[in-house]
Amino acid sequence: MIAIYPGSFDPITNGHLDIIKRASKVVDNLVVAVLCNGSKRPLFSTEERVEMIKAACHPFENVDVQAFSGLLVDFAKQTSAKVIIRGLRATADFENEFKMAITNKALSDNIETLFLPTSLQYSYISSSMVKEVASLGGDVSFMVPNVVEKKILQKIASI
Ligand code: ADP
Repeated sequence: MIAIYPGSFDPITNGHLDIIKRASKVVDNLVVAVLCNGSKRPLFSTEERVEMIKAACHPFENVDVQAFSGLLVDFAKQTSAKVIIRGLRATADFENEFKMAITNKALSDNIETLFLPTSLQYSYISSSMVKEVASLGGDVSFMVPNVVEKKILQKIASI
């Protein structure tokens, strides 16, 4: 079974990594799909986001990382994925995730969305929280992989 885990990953956090690790144990192949054309203006370029995820996912043999633009269901078809994985942190995530899942199902009946609940210790972590804390000079080492901590400090120093 091939599954895709789509998102902005701006940048990847330990919460994302936990979902990747757990999902990769229940599917044959997991494609982490990095959205290029989201509505939010990212801090990191698509290439930087892909590179950081590849470095963080190095230990997982059945995980691949690709950038995509356009409709998620079209990308799922291209990669022969039958399943979309999404993480759920809190009830706040639910409404939007539910709408997206129903929309994707309406666009393509062959693809199912599966939700994984966050692990408790990562339930408060988001990419935007990481960026905010880092931009104010706070420690983000416990929220992101090492590679991201280094990159985010470089990025903030350069802007
Ligand atoms: P998007 O812009 O598509 O929401 P994100 O990179 O913010 O992209 O999130 C990608 C997916 O990862 C979403 O399903 C989101 O709910 C999930 N996610 C984000 N942070 C966490 C976390 N700390 N624990 C579990 N899932 C998470």
